Amino acid sequence: MRLRYGDAEETYRAELVGWLEVHAPARALLTRPKRSSADLPDWARDWQRSLFDAGWLIPGWPPELGGRNASPAEQMIYFEEMKRREIPRSLNPQGLGIIAPSLRDYGTPEQQQRWLLPTLRAEIAWCLGMSEPGAGSDLASLQTRAVLDGDHFVVNGQKVWTSGAHHADWCMCFVRTNTDVPKHQGISVLIIDMTSPGIDVRPIPELTERDYVDFNEVFFTDVVVPQAHLLGELNHGWALTQGSLAHERAMLWVEYAYDVQRALDAMIRLADEPGADGRPLRADARYRDEVAAFYVDAQALLLMGYRGFSKFMRGRSAPEHSLLKLYGSETLQRLLLAGSEWLGPTGVDTRIFGPAMWRQGSWIVQYLRSFSGTIPGGTSEIQRNIIAERVLGLPRA
Ligand SMILES: Cc1cc2nc3c(=O)[nH]c(=O)nc-3n(C[C@H](O)[C@H](O)[C@H](O)COP(=O)(O)OP(=O)(O)OC[C@H]3O[C@@H](n4cnc5c(N)ncnc54)[C@H](O)[C@@H]3O)c2cc1C
Repeated sequence: MRLRYGDAEETYRAELVGWLEVHAPARALLTRPKRSSADLPDWARDWQRSLFDAGWLIPGWPPELGGRNASPAEQMIYFEEMKRREIPRSLNPQGLGIIAPSLRDYGTPEQQQRWLLPTLRAEIAWCLGMSEPGAGSDLASLQTRAVLDGDHFVVNGQKVWTSGAHHADWCMCFVRTNTDVPKHQGISVLIIDMTSPGIDVRPIPELTERDYVDFNEVFFTDVVVPQAHLLGELNHGWALTQGSLAHERAMLWVEYAYDVQRALDAMIRLADEPGADGRPLRADARYRDEVAAFYVDAQALLLMGYRGFSKFMRGRSAPEHSLLKLYGSETLQRLLLAGSEWLGPTGVDTRIFGPAMWRQGSWIVQYLRSFSGTIPGGTSEIQRNIIAERVLGLPRA
């Protein structure tokens, strides 16, 4: 399904598609194994730089920041076309998607000069230091401590699940700078050079990956960070967890809708596989029912997403984001489990997606990976809490 926008927007789409046809990286590059979410091979740096130069990196931003002041509808078209082709804007998504908007919104002119432009031009890579062993969903409980001593902070503590930390140049790190106030009010954000003495990064191997290692534990022991690396105001770090991402988040539902659609297409392609009784699955009414039910889910996801987007364009708040995150990530998971079960033992070997997908893997491996979609950015349980309290108006538990 593809919605048609106005003539001006469709002209914009045609311009983008024409540009991608000439400039998009070759499939062979896109499908090369990656090492982590902060590893930037030369081709990926070149690709992000060419997006920046052409104003296609963050279309809603002004030209000097890699955009073209695109309207919300044009930005949505951009996300649709990029996702349809499985072309990433950046191989350091946390740098471009989370840290760049934070630098733009909270950085001083000097900080923007030093870090924002190099981030947009893929000259530096980032990790995001939020979670700790005792602070995940309840991020405000974080304990990593930064004490101001003259013109620098001294940082001690530990982060965990820090994606790409072993390849990142810089970390946007949430630290406690005041212990005498309610927990949300004593948090600050520091930009930390990952080569600083006192940082120990320990990668955590993953069950489903061989060459790709993304998670890390990061230990800080008396790490010295210049005061000029404070992003935003002292003790006002909580604002950064709330603000910068709202715009982009409103459009990222496209990711879920397309992933579910792609997995559904793969499930439909199983129709000729033999079922338990030796006949093709298509002959089994339960298989057909399940495909139909997932088709309904996929369409509902898409339509709910467009409804949220349309509210967003009219300046209204859209609770759809939490619904889509929950519904999208869990529908994808159920779909991958269903396909794995229909295949039985062959699900261990049968690849789900064609060669276009960067992260290859069998149905079972993709199912195992899908758990990670239900955790970051607020777990499914947290989304349910948000929906209950803010959408349905139920009393807090
Ligand atoms: C793919 C991936 C990438 C990540 N990358 C990063 C990164 O780069 N940097 C970073 O800092 N972190 C990263 N994380 C960590 C992520 O932010 C945390 O895992 C997430 O916030 C959940 O925290 P937790 O793991 O401590 O679980 P917890 O918060 O301890 O939750 C454990 C369980 O309890 C449930 N729960 C918790 N609170 C409630 C509640 N109030 N009501 C009901 N149920 C509740 C949760 O839903 C979950 O099932 C990443 C995680 C994943 C999966």
